[in-house]
Amino acid sequence: MTLVAASIVVAALAASWVIAPIVVRRLALLGDPIPGGVLDAEARKRVALASLKEIEYDRIGGKLDDADYQTLRARLEHEALIALRLAEGAHRSADQFEITHSCGFVNPGGSRFCSGCGKRLG
Ligand SMILES: [Zn+2]
Repeated sequence: MTLVAASIVVAALAASWVIAPIVVRRLALLGDPIPGGVLDAEARKRVALASLKEIEYDRIGGKLDDADYQTLRARLEHEALIALRLAEGAHRSADQFEITHSCGFVNPGGSRFCSGCGKRLG
C-alpha cells in the first residue's frame, strides 16, 4: 500500500515538474511588462507593415487588380502611419518613464531590478 502511495506522490511531483514551466510562462506573457504599451504598439506596427507587403505580393501574383490595389494601399498606408506614430510615442513614453528605488537610485523605464542596489523593483 505504501508503494502505491509513494508511486502516486512521485507521479504527481513529476507531472508538476513538467507542467510548471508552461503555467509560469503563460502567466508571464499576460500583460505588457514595459510601461507605455510598447508591445501592443509594436504589434500594430508589424501587422500594418506586413499587410502592405502582402498586398504587394497579391498584386504581383495577380490576385488584386490595380484599382483594388490602389484603394487597399491608400488605406493600409494610412493605418501604417498611425501605427508607426503610436509605436514611436509608446517607445518614447517608456524610455522617459523612470523608477526611483527606495535606495535613491533612478532606474530607466522597463527595469526589473535596481541598477543601484540590485534588488527587484516592485
Ligand atoms: Zn535600489
